[in-house]
Amino acid sequence: MKCRRCRKVAAAIELPGSNTAFCPECFFVFFKKQVREGIRKHRLLSQNDRVLVCVSGGKDSLVLWDVLMDMGYETEGLYIDLGIEGYSERSKEKVIAYAEARGKQPIIVELTKEGIPIPEAARNIRMQECSICGTVKRHFFNRIAKEKGFSVVATGHNLDDESARLLGNILHWQQKHLVRQHPHLPASPEGLVKKVKPLWRLSELETAAYGFLKEIDYVIEECPMSKNATSLVYKEALSVIEERMPGSRIVFYQGFLDKANPLRTQEAPTAAFTSTATIANDDAKDTLDDPESETAGKPRYCVSCGALTYAEICSYCRLKKLMRQRMEKRVKEANQ
Ligand code: AMP
Repeated sequence: MKCRRCRKVAAAIELPGSNTAFCPECFFVFFKKQVREGIRKHRLLSQNDRVLVCVSGGKDSLVLWDVLMDMGYETEGLYIDLGIEGYSERSKEKVIAYAEARGKQPIIVELTKEGIPIPEAARNIRMQECSICGTVKRHFFNRIAKEKGFSVVATGHNLDDESARLLGNILHWQQKHLVRQHPHLPASPEGLVKKVKPLWRLSELETAAYGFLKEIDYVIEECPMSKNATSLVYKEALSVIEERMPGSRIVFYQGFLDKANPLRTQEAPTAAFTSTATIANDDAKDTLDDPESETAGKPRYCVSCGALTYAEICSYCRLKKLMRQRMEKRVKEANQ
């Protein structure tokens, strides 16, 4: 099959979702056009922005960094070493190698040094790894952006991620989450930095193809902590639908983003999400300091670290406090 754009060279990638096929050069043009369109449509970035690109070492975030640099945005990469044996070291190596190849030095936060490596924290606090990880990452994304003067935080979430999240939110009628699900979360005057997802129009297959064709060396293995993540079930379900009805994913997600969509405009219920929520409350712990999901309560500043929160101390500081308490208890028990 010939490339549908230049009609000269053989197509290297077929995209049933867009009913087209491209040679590598034309695919790069298509890919960048999609990113540009995604940015334009929801005003994600301006050329004056200083962008903190959160890079995990996986394909999506490294591809995002690559594309944004090529488009002329001022960017730096942030890698959070989660302290997951083997996986975190391998991911960090990929981030450093990629950054060096582009003449950059990534900003690195080591959770072991911060006293909250994810596997240990999960064991001690007896909470789900992914839940702790989300809270800790959100905390550092915003904290580093603020400390280092970035105007925006960008993550590599793609169309598969966002449509799976949408399906999960609809399936459980998580209206408060639905209202806040968007590729552009504006900055808040209280100190939340703007958050964007410029790859929202591109599928996982497309970002993987871009990474492969551009010879970006990324970590292929999935995080060992996320094996049972429910998002994988939603992704699988959407893959079945996409295979039978190509283009369904983008129609589903784009339709949701439509301003006129009542799912996006209705007021969320507030009762269960007041500032009285504690970390023991499963719903609250996931949403408490998450600007993407919190919709109720008055924001204020954490008395411990000064971060924006809906409680007296933010969920990150509470995690750290719980971790310290459990460690002290263990030491005491061991010494008895
Ligand atoms: P995930 O939540 O693992 O699906 O990752 C979603 C996005 O969050 C990635 O595309 C990255 O932009 C960012 N991210 C995930 N893990 C890390 C990490 N360890 N360090 C920095 N950014 C990350």
